[in-house]
Amino acid sequence: MIFEASRAKAVDKLNQFVENNLSEYSKLRNFDFGPDKRSNISCLSPYITHGLLNELEVIDKSLKKFSFAKNEKFIQEVLWRTYWKGWLELRPNVWSDYLIELNSLRNEFKDNQNYLNAIEGKTDLECFNQWVNELKENNYLHNHTRMWFASIWIFTLELPWQLGAEFFMQHLFDGDAASNTLGWRWVAGIQTQGKHYLASEWNIREIFLIMDMDLNKLFEHY
Ligand SMILES: Cc1cc2nc3c(=O)[nH]c(=O)nc-3n(C[C@H](O)[C@H](O)[C@H](O)COP(=O)(O)OP(=O)(O)OC[C@H]3O[C@@H](n4cnc5c(N)ncnc54)[C@H](O)[C@@H]3O)c2cc1C
Repeated sequence: MIFEASRAKAVDKLNQFVENNLSEYSKLRNFDFGPDKRSNISCLSPYITHGLLNELEVIDKSLKKFSFAKNEKFIQEVLWRTYWKGWLELRPNVWSDYLIELNSLRNEFKDNQNYLNAIEGKTDLECFNQWVNELKENNYLHNHTRMWFASIWIFTLELPWQLGAEFFMQHLFDGDAASNTLGWRWVAGIQTQGKHYLASEWNIREIFLIMDMDLNKLFEHY
């Protein structure tokens, strides 16, 4: 995956996506086909995060091509970013609390082997290790993989979500305080009280059939 940091490249990527792939977005967006096959999603997040594109022009461009009814799913996703941003802006203490907790957890976990294995991609979970390497090499992960990654980090490896959020921010080209922190809080079950995201076996297994990987080790943990 190549993210070239220029407005011209960003606009070109938006145009290509709208012309060639937007029509199939709602049907295919949830599949992670691997880093070389990303045409089912836009991969625009690094450009939007850093202000090379804005949400309004992305939505506007999509509506010039298709009706609202056909575009609804894509528009909803683009607006999640806007929603998370507004939510955090109205609650600045959520961000400052996160930083305080992170500071003490960094100290507490600096020599923790479970944590060090996770960030070095040396756990006994093959798929998780592969995602760690993919994140470090490509600075991007598919949305569903981010959810699985966070779920395994929190509920299988039993590590604090704050350190996982920090790890994402260190590597993602689209690293965004609101989308990232609130995405991790959502998986952990803090954002929507009483509702957490547990990566399900059928869901991951279906995807990994495509990638031909042995998932038995992961599911021993469930
Ligand atoms: C744990 C976790 C951490 C995340 N961290 C970040 C982050 O640091 N920065 C970031 O930009 N996104 C983050 N996301 C949201 C989402 O995964 C990415 O925005 C998306 O994968 C980007 O790929 P894309 O541009 O191909 O998305 P597409 O599917 O093509 O969506 C189009 C645009 O909609 C927006 N969008 C889509 N899904 C989401 C979502 N769930 N939340 C907010 N905006 C969304 C993005 O701007 C994206 O570019 C996170 C999600 C989770 C579960």
